[in-house]
Amino acid sequence: MIARKQPLNPESHLRSNGGFRLEESANGWRIGRFAALETLGVPHLVTTRQGPDVARVRHETSLAGREIAQLLELDDAAFLEQVHGGEVLVCDAAGCAGRADGLVTTSRSLALLGKSGDCPIVLIADRRHQAVGFAHASWRATVARIVPNVVRTMVESGCAAGDLVACICPSAGPECYEVGEEVRAAAIEGIGCHAASFFHPGPGGKDHFDLWAANADALIRTGVPSSSIHAAGVCTMCHNGVFPSHRREGESAGRFAAAIGLWPSRQRD
Ligand SMILES: [Zn+2]
Repeated sequence: MIARKQPLNPESHLRSNGGFRLEESANGWRIGRFAALETLGVPHLVTTRQGPDVARVRHETSLAGREIAQLLELDDAAFLEQVHGGEVLVCDAAGCAGRADGLVTTSRSLALLGKSGDCPIVLIADRRHQAVGFAHASWRATVARIVPNVVRTMVESGCAAGDLVACICPSAGPECYEVGEEVRAAAIEGIGCHAASFFHPGPGGKDHFDLWAANADALIRTGVPSSSIHAAGVCTMCHNGVFPSHRREGESAGRFAAAIGLWPSRQRD
């Protein structure tokens, strides 16, 4: 179990970590799981360094994805070439679905796999099991409204926003994620004036961007109930021994994966 070193922003909507914890999987990996998704019977996991090789997750995603799908008892995995934008794709086949930062499927037995080295991956499930999706909510993608765009795509795929449950995976936390002035300006332009509340001055004088709060707020504004929004509350920069971090390791950093899918039978648990 990772200690939650950094408190969540008290101004944020994020009161719940969704029962996130690390555990040993049947194949000896150490994986993160959300009780909030388990309860719904939604296959999902977050990988760590004790799992599929972090360089392989980044560069040989098909192979790593197949291993992850297997552990989830799903057939195979679909993923994206993540480009830090607002576009969402719908897929029904394994492999790279294209260049985008949101992915949705209604296909049973397909794992959707997001890659991260500090960026929040937001896993989104539907209580009625019509679809699943994820957003790669980097700051640029957050400003480009990636999370609302994934929610809208799921609604177009047969879900009701009120039935969605969103879990924000480990990522650079509000106490560590320092950004330049141009990020604050871009956020206010892309999200609106209220985006100023997601920034607070850090000890070094520079702004910190609370991507957990920004994405929780975006979910609420898109109709997802606040009680269905959870954040693991685990900072990848503080826990670089467990998760790869681009901010800590630079360009050569590997990636960890967050995956979600739909089982053939919704009764399964
Ligand atoms: Zn941190």
